[in-house]
Amino acid sequence: MNHAVDTAIRSLIKTMTNKTDEYYMQEALKEARKAFLKDEVPIGCVIVYNDKIIARAYNKRQKTSNVLGHAETIAIKKASKKLNSWILEGSTIYITLEPCLMCAGAILQARIKNVVFATFEPKFGALGSIINVFSNEYKFNHQIKVTSGICKDESSALLKSYFQTKRLKKIDKNI
Ligand SMILES: [Zn+2]
Repeated sequence: MNHAVDTAIRSLIKTMTNKTDEYYMQEALKEARKAFLKDEVPIGCVIVYNDKIIARAYNKRQKTSNVLGHAETIAIKKASKKLNSWILEGSTIYITLEPCLMCAGAILQARIKNVVFATFEPKFGALGSIINVFSNEYKFNHQIKVTSGICKDESSALLKSYFQTKRLKKIDKNI
């Protein structure tokens, strides 16, 4: 085969098989839906290393009766176990909601390279909503790239529907 054609085909195949941020965010959304079904605020997360998902988690704050049970902290624990290291350098975390200050801190400590989140969290969000801890204003030793807005409509719709259901259940109880 002509070398140029061969190179073009190889590059096309690479583009087609390379998974996108949307693909991984859909996987995080699957986790968020699991949380919804277990009556937890639907927030999901996956951690990707070398184009592979090495950890998945969803919010378990109610189940664990513990504020540390956020999707991100659970996923970071799992990823560290998998890589047998607390350093998750080179990995990307996909979260369906903007992380809180605690989780942003854990992401920083774990030396995660990229954060991709779907929708903003106006009450507790630490990557732009209330504070932007990864901005250049703070001189942390580790730089993190942040991308927001991936599959944001799906994530907000899921959260809205969760809180609507919650409200309806409350009304139902009060009748
Ligand atoms: Zn959090």
